[in-house]
Amino acid sequence: MKKLLPTSTAGSLPKPAWLAQPETLWSPWKLQGDELTEGKHDALRLSLQEQRHAGIDIVSDGEQTRQHFVTTFIEHLSGVDFEKRETVRIRDRYDASVPTVVGAVARRKPVFVEDATFLRQHTRQPIKWALPGPMTMIDTLYNNHYKSREKLAWEFARILNEEARELQAAGVDIIQFDEPAFNVFFDEVNDWGVATLERAIEGLECETAVHICYGYGIKANTDWKKTLGSAWRQYEEAFPKLQKSNIDMVSLECHNSRVPMELIELIRGKKVMVGAIDVATHAIETPEEVADTLRKALQFVDADKLYPCTNCGMAPLPRRVARGKLNALSAGAAIVRRELQE
Ligand SMILES: [Zn+2]
Repeated sequence: MKKLLPTSTAGSLPKPAWLAQPETLWSPWKLQGDELTEGKHDALRLSLQEQRHAGIDIVSDGEQTRQHFVTTFIEHLSGVDFEKRETVRIRDRYDASVPTVVGAVARRKPVFVEDATFLRQHTRQPIKWALPGPMTMIDTLYNNHYKSREKLAWEFARILNEEARELQAAGVDIIQFDEPAFNVFFDEVNDWGVATLERAIEGLECETAVHICYGYGIKANTDWKKTLGSAWRQYEEAFPKLQKSNIDMVSLECHNSRVPMELIELIRGKKVMVGAIDVATHAIETPEEVADTLRKALQFVDADKLYPCTNCGMAPLPRRVARGKLNALSAGAAIVRRELQE
């Protein structure tokens, strides 16, 4: 029988101090050239080992080979000039200096396929790989070539589909698209956001997921959360459309957030990766707290479709804290699994 409540993480895990500055988001590499290549692979192995040691069921690369969840992918594309930078407002929240789209965008060569192959060679457990979603990609760039955001999103969807097909061929079991922008641009999500996401997964036979969150525990995000009031109903905007889409799984934020749990009902039928670990605090959840979140979620998602997860990536956390949180996730899921099998 298939194991109930398989655990996984939303994506990134902390990098070792010899590879990149700890507790820093988008930290520059400490190694160069061949040493960097080898260092990234060593870190990937270490990250995999930590997930296995904690008993995580669906493992990932911990995003050890990426500096940034969006720009590392974009760096490998043609049509984007990283020297030509403009300041734009990201997700309507904070200003950042971003690269400029100066011509037709294209994928010159596979981006993560070698890394995914490496991960596949080192584990027989199911593996999940994260890619940025089309809407979040366009929101992290200055568009000086395509007439509209939508046009550029369709181009990225086509490129992401090429990459996703090759990741699938490399043995990836779940391909996840990170779309925090779905929590911000509601009209666009419904006009073309979900449609471009479906273009990105076109023809895939492996499982597909979309991760929609309230971001890393950085100041711009925690300040934004303070403005959202007592009930965060952002998911209400995208979920009905996602429920009708071809996406298999939805990864969302729950624990310590003000998302009303009943919103999960809006994606009934989908597999739900329920965030039972808060990534915005160094406090390590107890297994009982994790179990409590999962029990609440079970009111709105069938047990065979519940996937205990973290709210978002854990890259900026100290490694000790991230390890503690992985253990808590695993132990909390085990409590509820036992209850379900009684
Ligand atoms: Zn996230």
